[in-house]
Amino acid sequence: MRQAAFVTSPKLWAHGHGPQHPMKPERLQRTFELLSELGALGAGNVSVIEARMATPEELALFHTEQYIDVTRRLSDGDFSLPAGRYGFGPGDNPVFTDMYETESTKVGSTLQAAQLLFEQQCDVAFSYAGGLHHGGPDFASGFCVFNDCAVAIQWLLARGMRLAYVDIDVHHGDGVQNAFYETDQVLTISIHQDGRTLFPGTGFVAETGEGDGAGYSLNVPLPPLTYDQAYLRAFDEIVPPALERFGADIVVTQLGVDTHYTDPLASLALTTAAHEQLYRALAGLAPRWLALGGGGYAVELVPRSWALAFGVMSEQTLPETLPPQYQRHYGGTQLHDQQQPDLSEAIRLRVDEAVDQVIAQVKRTHGLA
Ligand SMILES: [Zn+2]
Repeated sequence: MRQAAFVTSPKLWAHGHGPQHPMKPERLQRTFELLSELGALGAGNVSVIEARMATPEELALFHTEQYIDVTRRLSDGDFSLPAGRYGFGPGDNPVFTDMYETESTKVGSTLQAAQLLFEQQCDVAFSYAGGLHHGGPDFASGFCVFNDCAVAIQWLLARGMRLAYVDIDVHHGDGVQNAFYETDQVLTISIHQDGRTLFPGTGFVAETGEGDGAGYSLNVPLPPLTYDQAYLRAFDEIVPPALERFGADIVVTQLGVDTHYTDPLASLALTTAAHEQLYRALAGLAPRWLALGGGGYAVELVPRSWALAFGVMSEQTLPETLPPQYQRHYGGTQLHDQQQPDLSEAIRLRVDEAVDQVIAQVKRTHGLA
């Protein structure tokens, strides 16, 4: 049976980007509560690990020392700094109380998961507070202060690991792609809503890497309203052959759930049924699996989908009925969606056609059979 680690801490949700911001820390708290109340964290093959802060030296595996220092000083209330130059300010990336502590704990969590996998103490480790794929070396972007994905990949690369990164967040994983754009030691794959219709506006098929990295960045931009079957077709035709050809020691996955049809920030139309199939597919493709969280702004959905993810990771069939206490606090009754997106036959046909074109274009560009 697969040994699974779950990295968490109340420190991850003690502070957040503010009441008006979509990145609500409740997403993390509720996921922890749901998994606890479902009994999933007490299984014999599961270990629960308390998240720690990353050190400045660890953050510096990807970020500049100046940015790390500025982030700490902004977090401590030093308003003399030009925050905007580093991507901070009102809007996507506000400075908030204990920002440095909170965000470096998300990186620490992912590093702990990476270390457990590297030392072969588990087969899969879930740092569900991580997956902050937009963060740049010296700037915050898209709700992401520190890029835990890039830091952990650097940490593993330094130990001789060959890594594939698969990003199923609805947004293009630009920060991670850019970090490894010129190396053949990391394959990055991002499946996302087309950059012409969504932040960050990148992730086109023609972005394939440069220099030694040519061919090692793979992008699958999908049209708005891509629904379960169309998405899964794109995934199945591209991701398994690309991963097989590359042959990674560890597969890092960013499991943003903002592809869901109820997500308020994006326009794909997936349900929890597709999410669960993706988790199963990734489990089968990852010899060792570093699983990270990511986006997902429908607070009602995020805990359910990540609970399903951890059920797959730890090979547990979770009860379908939400625990009574959870229902009382947050509403809902079932783990899986009880409704479907309302898409006409004409829309589905249009999506199918567009998705088939993208699949063909990606296969041609990357020489996939
Ligand atoms: Zn996202």
